[in-house]
Amino acid sequence: MFNRIDLRTAEPSVAELRSVLPRAEVDVDGVAHQVQPVLDAVRERGVSAALEHTERFDRVRPDSVRVPSDALTAALEELDPRVRSALEEAISRARAVHDDQRRTDVTTQVVPGGVVTERWVPVARVGLYAPGGLAVYPSSVVMNVVPAQAAGVDSLVVCSPPQAEFGGRPHPTILAAAALLGVDEVWAVGGAQAIALLAHGGTDTDGNQLAPVDMVTGPGNVYVTAAKRLLRGQIGIDAEAGPTEIAILADHTADPRHVAADLISQAEHDTLAASVLVTTSVELADATEAELARQVAATKHTDRISEALRGKQSGCVLVADLDAAVRVVDAYAAEHLEIQTADARAVASRIRNAGAIFVGPYAPVSLGDYCAGSNHVLPTGGCARHSGGLSVQTFLRGIHVIDYSEDALRSVAGQVVALADAEDLPAHGQAVTARFTEERA
Ligand code: NAD
Repeated sequence: MFNRIDLRTAEPSVAELRSVLPRAEVDVDGVAHQVQPVLDAVRERGVSAALEHTERFDRVRPDSVRVPSDALTAALEELDPRVRSALEEAISRARAVHDDQRRTDVTTQVVPGGVVTERWVPVARVGLYAPGGLAVYPSSVVMNVVPAQAAGVDSLVVCSPPQAEFGGRPHPTILAAAALLGVDEVWAVGGAQAIALLAHGGTDTDGNQLAPVDMVTGPGNVYVTAAKRLLRGQIGIDAEAGPTEIAILADHTADPRHVAADLISQAEHDTLAASVLVTTSVELADATEAELARQVAATKHTDRISEALRGKQSGCVLVADLDAAVRVVDAYAAEHLEIQTADARAVASRIRNAGAIFVGPYAPVSLGDYCAGSNHVLPTGGCARHSGGLSVQTFLRGIHVIDYSEDALRSVAGQVVALADAEDLPAHGQAVTARFTEERA
């Protein structure tokens, strides 16, 4: 069921490796022509246009697009106590990690009287998209809200699609998660129309106003991603979250039962999910394949998982040694990378490209999906080569504050003029010298 790529005698370049390790492709630009009219309609006609598209795509018309506060409280009261306690644990661990990521301002005295400070300022208002199409992810509400709150974002709004079976409100676990996190502004709108409403703002029929946001984060389907891509610039967005990926770098010491279980756990998300094993051991590869066959048959979402594992985006890569394995996983730049080798910490320290690294036999990706304290919104599709996952930093802007005295400016005036002249921008230099020529007049 698993593709096998044997690189034991090959020495491929990084570029060759990237083509040998194919990934799932999602054609975001291909749906832009469908999404742009939705964005235009919501920009022009606000909530009423969003409601028309909600009726069309979600087949439900919520009575009130802004979810009343008492519905949030009721959802929390009715939440299964086991789920509530697990969410509380996930929130408390995520808060511990993200609170520690807060940045402090840095002031540098460049010369006497010349000071530059980097001030970290949170984005004022953020919209968080919680998907609600095929599955609901209260864990994604936690992973988006916690870093925003730790960054000091003043105003947070959550949007999630209305569900016909819940009277046109978002799924109750989404509402309960928002309530647990202290977010009281939730709107029942999904898809591209939600992203447009967040960008442009609007007023519902009850007179509730959704003020436009500065930034939208959160995963979503191809329409949500296309809307974010089309509105980028007007609003800030996080990295695009494509189908999930797990790569496992393992040697002969890894337990094939664990390796197979972890490959299956991510294949469970999506038929396009990628599960990749990179190993120095043929015995482990064979044993993992046997385990996959056994475990897939016994799990709940057998069809979806089998399709993901058989897909061209999944498979096993055989390599000659650990050095080659590190080169392969660095070229692949997985969203999630597990290291299951004899000296997992040492191998992990050599990895340059991954969204998150899970070290050793007791740090499966599922732990990070929910309760490790780390963030689970991570770069996919090879973007881990240049980007990190969601963090407090996502919601902060570093603003340089320049404070120079007269003497400090005078001491560098000649250099500013020289560089301005070299760029044929003499007015730049004159803006400095004007301050000192006036003095002489
Ligand atoms: P979704 O909420 O993203 O999409 C459902 C919405 O799509 C509906 O509200 C509907 O109105 C809208 N829609 C449908 N057709 C449309 C069209 N033609 N134009 C505009 N809008 C349209 O939920 P989903 O479909 O289940 O997708 C969620 C995605 O998020 C999945 O791919 C999942 O794997 C991913 N996800 C990723 C992460 C991560 O951290 N990487 C976490 C959770 C979910």
